[in-house]
Amino acid sequence: MDRRRFLKTVTGVVIGAGLAPKAMAGIMITERLSSSEAEDAYLKDYLYKMRHFNMHHADDIFLSPADFGTLKSALARMRRLQRTVGHGNFYLLSFDEALKIAANYGRVEPFTAEELAFLEKIFYADSTVYGFMGEKPFKHLTDHIRKDNVVRDRMTGNYLFKGKPVETYRHIKEHLGDEVTLTSGVRSVIKQFMLFLSKAYESEGNISMASRSLAPPGYSFHGIGDFDVGQVGYGALNFTERFTETTVFKRLVDMGYLRLRYQQDNMLGVRFEPWHIKVS
Ligand SMILES: [Zn+2]
Repeated sequence: MDRRRFLKTVTGVVIGAGLAPKAMAGIMITERLSSSEAEDAYLKDYLYKMRHFNMHHADDIFLSPADFGTLKSALARMRRLQRTVGHGNFYLLSFDEALKIAANYGRVEPFTAEELAFLEKIFYADSTVYGFMGEKPFKHLTDHIRKDNVVRDRMTGNYLFKGKPVETYRHIKEHLGDEVTLTSGVRSVIKQFMLFLSKAYESEGNISMASRSLAPPGYSFHGIGDFDVGQVGYGALNFTERFTETTVFKRLVDMGYLRLRYQQDNMLGVRFEPWHIKVS
C-alpha cells in the first residue's frame, strides 16, 4: 500500500464530519460519466476489496486518534459489562440497561461522556460513508429486543426469535441433526456494538475494514431474525470461506434452505458470508 496515502487517510478523515469520501465519490463519478469503463474499474476495485476484506485499502476510512482512544475505553467497559451480566444475558441487553448496570457495578463503572458521544456518533453515522451499504433494522440506539419474543437454544446458549427463525433452525436441525450448530443468534445493539468495536480495534481504527466483515451496530439482521450456523467441531473455520467445504453447507444448499444475506460478490460492502442465514 502507498504509505503516504495511508497516513493521510489516518489523520485526515473523521467520520461524521460530513466529508465526501473517495468511496462515494467513486460511485458519483461512475454515475455521472455512466461510462462502462469507469463502472468496470469501480466494480473491479470494489470486488477486489471485498475478496481481500481483511486488509487496509487506499480509500478506507479511519477513526481519528482521539476517537480510537475512546473506542478502547468503551470496548474495555463493554467487556467488563459482559463479564458482569454473563454472555447469555448480554445477547439481549438493551443500551439503557447497559448504562444502568455499568453505573451500578464498581467493576464496570459508568460510561463517560466522551464514550457516550462516541457511541452515538458511530450509531447514527451514515455507514455508506465508510462503505457499508446494507439496511438498518434498528433506527435508535435504545431499540431493544423483547425477551418474551425469543427462545434460548439449550445446546449453545444463543437465542432465536420465535416464529420463522426458530422454525427455520428446527427444520435445519431435523435434517442435519448433530452435525449442525447455531454459532450465533439474536444480538442486541450493545452486543453488535461490542463485536464491531472489537473488529475496529483489531483493524487499527479502520472502520471500512471492520464493516466489511461485521455489520455496524443497528445494521445487523441478527437483531431481527437472521442467525449463523456451523459444522460441529469446525470451530473458528465456520466463519471463513472454508465453511463452504463442510457437509453442513453442502446439505443446506441441496435442501434449498440457504438464503444468504451476504452472497459472494454482493454490492452491500460486505464479504461473502456463507454461514449467515437470512430469515427476516
Ligand atoms: Zn451472521
